[in-house]
Amino acid sequence: MAADVPTRKTPRGSVLGRDRILQAMERVPRERFISPSLGPLAYAGYALPIGGEQTISSVETVVLLCEALLLRGGERILEIGTGSGYQAAVMAELGCKVYSVERVAELSRAARKLLDKLGYLQVLVRWGDGGDGWPAHAPYDRIVVTAACPRVPEPLPEQLGRGGVMVVPAGERRNQRLIRITRGISGRLMSTVLEPCNFVPLLGRWGWSEKSACQTSGPGMRGGGDPGGDLWA
Ligand code: SAH
Repeated sequence: MAADVPTRKTPRGSVLGRDRILQAMERVPRERFISPSLGPLAYAGYALPIGGEQTISSVETVVLLCEALLLRGGERILEIGTGSGYQAAVMAELGCKVYSVERVAELSRAARKLLDKLGYLQVLVRWGDGGDGWPAHAPYDRIVVTAACPRVPEPLPEQLGRGGVMVVPAGERRNQRLIRITRGISGRLMSTVLEPCNFVPLLGRWGWSEKSACQTSGPGMRGGGDPGGDLWA
């Protein structure tokens, strides 16, 4: 059936394992993505502040997201939440082209500057509300949301190509599940709940308001139940 034929060539090698991801991470100078005063903590097992009240994900979280994305190398990836730019740099080291959106202007500018300086020209950074995705470059092979969503932002799965994989932490403000959404070759979306997690909040149209993001509960939040139910927009 014509509808079952992928419209674009997508990477077909085997899924990259933890070893390949860790090798890619070794090539990215993580200490450059944080303040020099935090340098000795670069590889500590927790997220670190990067300004704008935001954090760089821990090494373990970056590995988790890369694994969950089922990367084969060479994908076009939409990342929501550029933050420091570190996750984007790691995915670039895995041969991917990354389109990354960040809501905090100062972080977006700093990440763009650093990524350019380090030679990651295959990462494009845009300042804006990532809940709306980046339709100009859709469809994507992969979409990764690096902030917690009260529900899956509706525009994102729409920008996922056939055979594509999206990973998004969704649920409550301080307690989410990592969800993998796949779009089959026929175009059908399916979701799988992977594991409990705790990301900083997605703000903006599809996320929390800045005020409610500081609280443990609030209006507009939905429980972390079946992603096929509550968590879908
Ligand atoms: N990937 C980052 C870590 C991101 S932390 C890294 O490797 O450093 C989550 C990021 O999501 C924060 O920088 C936060 O500002 C951003 N964010 C929150 N809401 C957003 C939105 N609606 N659109 C884009 N970015 C958002």
